[in-house]
Amino acid sequence: MKTLFTVLSAASFALLSIPAHAQDDADAPRWSIAIHGGAGVILRENMSAEQQAEYEAALQAALDAGAEVLRNGGSAMDAVKAAIVPMEDDEKFNAGRGAVYTWEGRNELDAAIMDGSDRSAGAITGVTTVKNPILLADAVRSDGRHVFLSGAGAEEFAGDTGLELVDPTYFGTERRKEALERMKAKQLSALDVDHKFGTVGAVALDSHGNLAAGTSTGGLTGKRWGRIGDAPVIGAGTYADNRSCAVSATGAGEYFIRVGVAQEICTRLRYQPVGWSIYADDAGAAEHPALPDILSDEEAVAELYESYLVAAQGTADVVMSEVAELGGDGGVILVTPQGHTIFSFNTPGMYRGRANSEGLNEVAIFEAAE
Ligand code: ASP
Repeated sequence: MKTLFTVLSAASFALLSIPAHAQDDADAPRWSIAIHGGAGVILRENMSAEQQAEYEAALQAALDAGAEVLRNGGSAMDAVKAAIVPMEDDEKFNAGRGAVYTWEGRNELDAAIMDGSDRSAGAITGVTTVKNPILLADAVRSDGRHVFLSGAGAEEFAGDTGLELVDPTYFGTERRKEALERMKAKQLSALDVDHKFGTVGAVALDSHGNLAAGTSTGGLTGKRWGRIGDAPVIGAGTYADNRSCAVSATGAGEYFIRVGVAQEICTRLRYQPVGWSIYADDAGAAEHPALPDILSDEEAVAELYESYLVAAQGTADVVMSEVAELGGDGGVILVTPQGHTIFSFNTPGMYRGRANSEGLNEVAIFEAAE
């Protein structure tokens, strides 16, 4: 253990000291998935039992769709898409069908997806006619020539993909229109008018050991001048790397971009000793001079491995506290290479769910245990 302590930085030691509150890594799941449908001021007292049941059912349907892919041996990428599409089609969420309005009264959609196995990524922003933006983001990724397409160019590319296109009026909903009108009449901020972010996202580990992350959103009510949030920005709202974790975010996008939340979480995890132990066979492990010492100490490796969940939760919380320090709020979901699913948010609630091959299957909305 001496060797171990000599290489732990003060920060990572602090993370390892947090009491563990999760399953043993010996029982690490073969596949895992986590989803979110946005964070915000979501309080039990403001939600009827009926509304709560509707949101829970929608989250469960999305979770089931993703889990089904993974249960059948499908890829994390397919699971992420399978989970996000039903939420894009459900007007309860601020993505696809239920997207919020821009200041000019349009619905401009953003999405991104990333494959942790090769870090291939695709993202689109400002599209108005693509029914399922997450599928367009994936088409950009699989095409491979570019990573991030915007506006008219993204629409033109979409026309060649065979994806379902709709008239922009498809995204028009009374509830979102009323929110824009109220915002203008009362000169409210985007958060004050909506009280919550309704972006959707999913992260998954498949039984082949690959991670993926995806996020889809209409952005913020009343956004102007071609504003782009964090969701489609690779590294801000979406990131996946098999060596560390997969992350999808929701919240005040401007802050998440400034912190580079998703990649910041992944990178911090990758450079922790607990991170090194999981890719000991990778060439990348040789980069760190202290690693061979750790790897020769089996007990140290086992301890580090078991600590990954603790480190991942701590890392997500620390990065989210940076968002809060700058004045932003929201949350993240992440999945680790061992299949731990983690939520971290600094709002009163977050629509969320998680499932794994060991039988975990739960959805939740409010902060406190339900
Ligand atoms: N993060 C999104 C954005 O800033 C908003 C959301 O999470 O609902 O565009």
